[in-house]
Amino acid sequence: MWNSTKNSGKLFLLIYKTNKGQFFASSFLHILQGLVPFFSLIVMQNLLNAISSTMINGVDIVLIPFAVFVLLYLAKLVINSGQTFVEGNLENSLAKSLNIMICQKSTQLGLADYENSSINDQLKRASQEAGFRPYQLYSQLAGIASSLITVISSSTWLFLWKWWTVPIILVVSLASLYSLFKINKQQFEIYMERTPYYRQSWYLTYLLTNDRAVKEVKIFQLSSYLLNRYSGLLEGFYKVDKKMLGKLTKYTLVYNLVELAVMLWLVWLVIKETLRNTLMIGSLYGYIQAIMLTQSQVQSIMRNLLQFSQNHLYMEQLFLFIDLPTSDPLMRSSEQSNELGMIADKRSSFSIEQLELRNVSFQYLGQEKQVLNNVSLTFNKGETVAIVGKNGSGKTTLMKILMQLYDDFNGNILVNGHNIKEYNLMNYQKKIGAVFQDFVHYEMSVRQNIGFGSLEQMDQDDIILDAAKYASIDQVIRTLPQGLDTQLGKWFEDGQQLSGGQWQRLAIARAFMRNADLYILDEPSAFLDPVAERDLLELFLDLMKDKIGIFITHRLSSARLAHRIIVMEDGKVIEQGTHEALLQRNGAYAEMYQIQAKSFSDESSREEVYQS
Ligand code: ADP
Repeated sequence: MWNSTKNSGKLFLLIYKTNKGQFFASSFLHILQGLVPFFSLIVMQNLLNAISSTMINGVDIVLIPFAVFVLLYLAKLVINSGQTFVEGNLENSLAKSLNIMICQKSTQLGLADYENSSINDQLKRASQEAGFRPYQLYSQLAGIASSLITVISSSTWLFLWKWWTVPIILVVSLASLYSLFKINKQQFEIYMERTPYYRQSWYLTYLLTNDRAVKEVKIFQLSSYLLNRYSGLLEGFYKVDKKMLGKLTKYTLVYNLVELAVMLWLVWLVIKETLRNTLMIGSLYGYIQAIMLTQSQVQSIMRNLLQFSQNHLYMEQLFLFIDLPTSDPLMRSSEQSNELGMIADKRSSFSIEQLELRNVSFQYLGQEKQVLNNVSLTFNKGETVAIVGKNGSGKTTLMKILMQLYDDFNGNILVNGHNIKEYNLMNYQKKIGAVFQDFVHYEMSVRQNIGFGSLEQMDQDDIILDAAKYASIDQVIRTLPQGLDTQLGKWFEDGQQLSGGQWQRLAIARAFMRNADLYILDEPSAFLDPVAERDLLELFLDLMKDKIGIFITHRLSSARLAHRIIVMEDGKVIEQGTHEALLQRNGAYAEMYQIQAKSFSDESSREEVYQS
């Protein structure tokens, strides 16, 4: 009860803030709506009584009640049209504000939050419901208020006639409320348990309808398997829903039957009084109408209360999501700097000259395994470093920690000799250009794909084209129909599709677009052929003269270009040094290199055999 009052309060505040004018207009119209049925009853009763007494008093006596009757119906028309307009607008503006609020909140979540399935569930629930639930909740509350006004006025009318009719109607209506509330709660629980399955079904539709997945779905003939899983999930939802609906129908049917019997009995009482000639025909109409109004409005209050209790639980989820604490180091650091007031400005103008990791260890939330284990490393300006190691050895994680996408690591990271936590994270991250392994294909223009690296310079063609040149994608751009403003991808109209390597070059250009101090390339070899990778890395080395450049690679022929090579295994740095020094050491690197070199020499001898 307390929670629902609190959430309703929050909701009203939100609506009030969204649009004050519409909020007041809507409240006013709801009050009028509540009064209209009672006034209609009175006006109609007077009109009928006037008609029945025309025999004695002449026709003129009907004119005034009829004029009032006409005025009332005109007023009703105006109120209804006004309400349609105001409510429609209120609903749209509320959905707009909430959708923006949810997206805003999503931007404040950290990488770790996105990797947390229960937060993903919450996000899905919130974004799915935002468009309509809050407005439903508001209109139910407003509907309850309107119906209450009607019930109070019409039951007063009844009360003055026979007071005991009112408690009878109320008791009958309230009796069934408890069991209906229980069904409601069950429905909500089902909904909550279902969210992960909803997400699964959403993912299956995504696989079945998305152009990125379609190639594999077709070639591995996954369609019927995926479709079966999808229909299995939907079938499960349907069966549970059907059972609940059956239960609900049973309860409401019994409840409606009892209510109907009581109402008919009361109507019969009124008819009996009329037959005994104690009531005029208008009053007969008035009391029957008052009985029916009270009963129907109490029913409507109950229906609204029920739906309200359901929607309020969904609303609670929405507010819980909005209030969710974030794992994003950026948000935490800005909260912290607000609290401490000084950190934000302490080191605002700096360039990253040196990065030092001291005994850095890290494990992912909810995982036992240490993904990084006591890593100590230094990176200096002017140096290009290659990181090599088997899959899963922790290379990418190390980069994510360097970028401060996670900040709950143990040990210390020093930037220019000072603890990284002393820096404003926004300023720090501005100095990093990165190409992720799973970089994004923005289904937007070339300009946006590159310009996102430095939003302020997005309209400067020469800077964008320079970045494109560094990533060797400038020639391709020149052949596109609208040059920099060509739409890319296939999701939207007139999109030009690029190859995997070309998309990756765009991602590289995006990183170069930024005037950063630290550049990180995570496996540029993923989409590039060996020659292209080599060309890129040679250029990278050249560009990194007064920067720190780090690249992760599996090709040791590329790694050897770097000033220093770091070898990782099981979250530890097991070797580091130049290519020559590591070969001399005859350790893990030398072994990997020999394996790769052998496969190359095997290839070339095979080629010789083919050629001969
Ligand atoms: P590499 O880049 O060397 O291939 P990663 O840093 O990607 O290795 O992964 C190191 C280990 O951390 C792997 O065992 C992987 O399963 C685990 N891991 C990577 N990302 C996550 C994550 N987001 N949540 C949990 N575990 C992860």
